[in-house]
Amino acid sequence: MARRKKIYEGKAKTLFEGPEPGTIVQYFKDDATAFNAEKRDVIEGKGVLNNMLSEYFMNGLTQIGVPNHFIRRLNMREQLVRACEIVPLEVIVRNFAAGSMAKRLGIEEGTPLPRPIVEYCYKDDALGDPLVSEEHIAAFGWASQQDMEDILSLALRVNDFLSGVMFGVGIKLVDFKIEIGRVYEGDYQRLIVADEISSDSCRLWDMETGQKLDKDVFRRDLGSLTDAYSEVARRLGVMPKGATPMKPTLIN
Ligand code: 5GP
Repeated sequence: MARRKKIYEGKAKTLFEGPEPGTIVQYFKDDATAFNAEKRDVIEGKGVLNNMLSEYFMNGLTQIGVPNHFIRRLNMREQLVRACEIVPLEVIVRNFAAGSMAKRLGIEEGTPLPRPIVEYCYKDDALGDPLVSEEHIAAFGWASQQDMEDILSLALRVNDFLSGVMFGVGIKLVDFKIEIGRVYEGDYQRLIVADEISSDSCRLWDMETGQKLDKDVFRRDLGSLTDAYSEVARRLGVMPKGATPMKPTLIN
């Protein structure tokens, strides 16, 4: 079998050159990291679940007209996505106080916010993805004013969509992170939702019990991460109960 060209290896995913120009194969690994990779483990099946969950959310976004990079799922661990230039920002949307914002501002976790709060972090592992303002973003040329308007609009549309989908299965969308890609179409550029949307990048709490069904289970040692992610997948009908996410088979 021909070796595929690896383009990039991140903490949770590996990217390979896709079969057609302008495409990329996104491989979901089982590696889990937190606190800027100070805590790490391999959680069997996590990659499979995130591949399925991200497919589900990105397909839903396509259905409601929110542009994103997803083309199709290839297998249990891989999906074909559109190649794009990643804007070096993590875009975080919060509906309830939690995580770093709760800590930074001394607000009790779970406090409802009067409106969704959008935050931007500069994507740089060595710096620990620091929080930045729109002033930094403009001054350092990471995104233009028009880009920022488009990014805000995309982030809020994703928030409304995800909140509604999760509400339908009894889950509260506390916050999430998305990444944005730049694609070129002739003389025009367009911004699209890229990377992944999964239990790795969202805070999801059971509406009745408050049980955490996201990566905080790993970050805070709250039990089985696979059980938490499987529960989200099961409620969404993405993976039937009893199905076991298989072991990784990285073919390169
Ligand atoms: P916080 O800033 O509270 O740590 O995170 C806010 C939200 O963004 C959470 O849902 C968290 O999972 C997500 N998030 C923040 N940074 C990252 C990151 O580097 N990777 C992933 N997968 N999610 C992140």
